[in-house]
Amino acid sequence: MKKICLKFILILLAMVVIFNSLSVTYAASKSELNQKIKETKENLNEVNSQKAESQDKVNDLSSQIQSYESQINSLKSEIETKTNEVNEMQKKLDQLEEEREKNQSLLDERLVTLYESGEVSYMDVLLSSADITQFISNYYMIETLTAADKELIQNLENEKNEIADTQSKLNASLDEIESKKTELESVQSELSKAKNEEQTKVDKLTKQSEDLEENVEEYEAQMKELDKKEKEQEAALKAKIQAAQSAAATSGTSSSGFIRPVKTGSITATMYYSSGKYHGAVDFGVPVGTPVYAAADGVVVTATWGGSDSYGYYVKIKHYNGLYTLYAHASSLVVSAGQVVKQGQLIMYSGNTGNSTGPHCHFEVRVSPGGYSNRVNPLNYL
Ligand SMILES: [Zn+2]
Repeated sequence: MKKICLKFILILLAMVVIFNSLSVTYAASKSELNQKIKETKENLNEVNSQKAESQDKVNDLSSQIQSYESQINSLKSEIETKTNEVNEMQKKLDQLEEEREKNQSLLDERLVTLYESGEVSYMDVLLSSADITQFISNYYMIETLTAADKELIQNLENEKNEIADTQSKLNASLDEIESKKTELESVQSELSKAKNEEQTKVDKLTKQSEDLEENVEEYEAQMKELDKKEKEQEAALKAKIQAAQSAAATSGTSSSGFIRPVKTGSITATMYYSSGKYHGAVDFGVPVGTPVYAAADGVVVTATWGGSDSYGYYVKIKHYNGLYTLYAHASSLVVSAGQVVKQGQLIMYSGNTGNSTGPHCHFEVRVSPGGYSNRVNPLNYL
């Protein structure tokens, strides 16, 4: 800093205090929150994949149960059909039995009538007949009647037996179907039990997943809030800086507020090398290991290896006045990206890394973060 009015210094100091105390807090909270969001999302993915796996099992079991259900239903309808057939047969059997009984009792009655009149014999018939013609007629009639009755009864008996046989076969087949049905029902019940257990898992995982989603949403809302606050703070700081700059400008002092990055060493190159080649920076000739300081308050946006054909180890800082400074060819870095630095804070040690022909500190001022064309003459700011 050259000659800067007291007011500007005071404003800057106030800003430094506010920014450092609050912004660091935000950065830490944000990084913590980001970690939480990352972990929660990982957890959520794990739970969701478990849930999908369980759901697949439930679906598989459901379709198995469905298939058993349709087999059981087809057996049920088969049972119903066969039971109806059995019942029909029973009805028929009952009818036949009734008919047989009726015929049997008719025959019995006839026989009883004959017996009641004494022993049925040729003699009885002969004696009860008026003449031989009647006798033959009577005898023949009795013989014919009883033979027809007996045949009818036998036929009924045969038909009954046939139906009873078919009915018993049907009943056996029914038993078989019933036992098959019972077997299927038992498997189906096992499957249902397994499905219910798996469904319980799915429900539990769904609840977990919902909870985790809620957590992520909450963390993201918190993050949004932090971002908002940070942006508000940045905007407030920008306004203060502008006020400070215009105050400084009206009092005729430098508004950049940049200090030299190194305390020793003379300037060995400016925007153009002595050869006339464009350089875009100021070089300070300092030995390897010389402390290099932040030219002003700001946030480190880059602190990394820039390549052996380029900057080597270098640091880039974003300042609150919208400008960027870049320090290159370091032997080692002290700060890291995201770190808030104060003016004059040690950021690295100078060196001879990257595209450098001898130990020096290469210092750039840029009006925007990227691109060589955004470089401006640092001497206008020091
Ligand atoms: Zn240089």
